[in-house]
Amino acid sequence: MNALYVLLLAVLVNIPIALYAILKKSLRIPDGLLAAAIMGILLFMANWFYWAAVIIFFASSSLLTRYKEKNRIKQEAMEYAEKGGTRDAFQVFANGGIAMLAAIYVIINQGIWKGSLTDPIAIGAITSVATVTADTWATEIGVLSRKQPVWILNPFKKVPRGTSGGISLRGIGATALGSSLIAFSYFFAATLETKNYQKILIITIIILIGGIFGSLVDSFLGAIIQAQYECPVCKKITEKKVHLKCGGTITKHVKGLKIINNDIVNVIAALIPSIIVYFFTKYVYYPY
Ligand SMILES: [Zn+2]
Repeated sequence: MNALYVLLLAVLVNIPIALYAILKKSLRIPDGLLAAAIMGILLFMANWFYWAAVIIFFASSSLLTRYKEKNRIKQEAMEYAEKGGTRDAFQVFANGGIAMLAAIYVIINQGIWKGSLTDPIAIGAITSVATVTADTWATEIGVLSRKQPVWILNPFKKVPRGTSGGISLRGIGATALGSSLIAFSYFFAATLETKNYQKILIITIIILIGGIFGSLVDSFLGAIIQAQYECPVCKKITEKKVHLKCGGTITKHVKGLKIINNDIVNVIAALIPSIIVYFFTKYVYYPY
């Protein structure tokens, strides 16, 4: 297909998404919006499904953020988390950046809309989206777990809901569902490209497992290296540098590395399974 035509199409499909994001205040203006626009266009120009996968992530996350948002347990748990509803450029790249890098590679080396979905680079890219989706679902649904979550490094130690590194059965179930959503969307997209169902089913399972694994890596990194702070007034542990509820009190760094915030953990956690899946399908095992 003509490159200019794809570019025009890429701009067109992203306009309603951008308008929705502006309306719902889900992107910070201008940087978050600009980052998302560049990302959306690049993803679409590599392969329409790179774009669609990230849109499925974005749409399902937005829906889940609103799911039971008035619930007291969820509000309390989310108070711990650093992120608000409005994403800045860094947060946009933290979630879709790896897929975007893969998209740039595909555009340069294979051409616009020339890359195959069964190529290891695509498998790696979609795995990063499966990871961030699984991770977001785990947080949004997992915090509503009836049982208090346990520490990923010690299943006998209970931690407050929303704590990085806290896991629950409900959260793990949500992780599997989130990763499945991306993996099975991949399956249907790939059927448009090939009728070798066995091959794409195996790749789908690889992406599914990669996404679940990535979400566990995220919890693990959240537990060991992510910066955590304590509010000197109410003694609550938070990822935030200021506690708004206590009149904007500056919190004290108590754990993890200061430079590692939740976004950096997300990037590393999405990168690890993507790289493993890429090398695995390129050099170890590729289904035919
Ligand atoms: Zn406080």
